[in-house]
Amino acid sequence: MLPVRIVGNGLAAHVLAQTLLRKNIEVEVFGIDLPGSASQAAWGLLNPVHLKTRSLTYGANQFERSLEFYQWAETHLGQTFLKQVRLRHYYRDAQDAKDWMQAWQEILHHHVALQSDYVEVLRAGSVSIPTFIEASVRELKKWGMHRPEPVMESEMLASSKEQWVVWAHGHWAAKSTLFGWVPLRPSAGVQVEWELRDSSFQPLVQHRGYFYGQDPVNPQIYRLGSTYSWSLEAGYQAEAEKELMHAMADYSGLQSDGNLHFRLGYRPASGDRKPILGPHPLFKNHLIFNGLGSKGLLMAPVMAELTADICVHSTHDIPPELDVRRFYKRYKPSP
Ligand SMILES: Cc1cc2nc3c(=O)[nH]c(=O)nc-3n(C[C@H](O)[C@H](O)[C@H](O)COP(=O)(O)OP(=O)(O)OC[C@H]3O[C@@H](n4cnc5c(N)ncnc54)[C@H](O)[C@@H]3O)c2cc1C
Repeated sequence: MLPVRIVGNGLAAHVLAQTLLRKNIEVEVFGIDLPGSASQAAWGLLNPVHLKTRSLTYGANQFERSLEFYQWAETHLGQTFLKQVRLRHYYRDAQDAKDWMQAWQEILHHHVALQSDYVEVLRAGSVSIPTFIEASVRELKKWGMHRPEPVMESEMLASSKEQWVVWAHGHWAAKSTLFGWVPLRPSAGVQVEWELRDSSFQPLVQHRGYFYGQDPVNPQIYRLGSTYSWSLEAGYQAEAEKELMHAMADYSGLQSDGNLHFRLGYRPASGDRKPILGPHPLFKNHLIFNGLGSKGLLMAPVMAELTADICVHSTHDIPPELDVRRFYKRYKPSP
């Protein structure tokens, strides 16, 4: 089998590369870091509970499987990037506490514990996605499998038909000729980081809808985020920075030395909010691996397993809600 070619340098590309290598399948990863990469801006929460709606998130049933992947990757790559964390939401008022009690009784009793003034998610993780990617790149370089270069579609289309090419290029897919017909609806997000000397790990807290806590690898780095907007306007970052500064000023438990670093990224979300996987209608050896949205950490490992199955067995046994074929009617071959 020819090495699987992977386009992208984000979470999707590297979870896939490591999953394939784990199965002794060779890869070639073609990718650079373009500004706006979701993986470089992500908070990095692996959380099965949607705190806003007091329900399980899409992909919550993949939590244990995903955790196993990141634990395996830490051992295999010899790099720490995951920390299992306690995640707290302080009740806003008596009604909020009552609603949490109801959610606990109805569906969340295995997932959260109720305390007198907050609810705590029992199983959650925090992953430094950039550290995972750096470790994956290091390993790929060692085996000569990393090509840090911008990719032109025409070059990849010249690949042998016997070779799988997986396009894991995030929101850039929306502008591509090959997969531009797939409905992606990226959302912009900004988070802010700063450094403090105090490095004893504290529980992660949800404050006004933002998460506040420490980096899993370097606990001296504190962060708050992320904002969420459909605006793709250039001015959005300034607006988001103001929003985050406002939230920081309003949080009495938060300390910072004012030396703030903001990061902007675009979540590659699909029109129907579900990931997207499968072959191009015409170029069948070209697969798309996209639409991870804000559930990248939960969904990337299961998507990577499904992709490995396609590459090894040429099976097209993809759950319908993830299958790119749900969008085939939008595809119009160029004349
Ligand atoms: C602010 C923010 C907070 C988030 N928080 C969380 C969170 O807490 N938990 C969670 O699970 N998810 C979170 N997410 C979502 C998560 O980051 C994404 O689901 C995931 O990172 C998507 O990975 P990706 O590889 O598909 O896309 P990206 O990370 O965008 O990667 C695409 C890559 O392809 C490369 N590329 C594109 N075109 C080319 C080309 N032609 N040639 C070479 N390289 C190319 C880009 O440079 C980039 O490296 C967050 C996202 C944002 C923006």
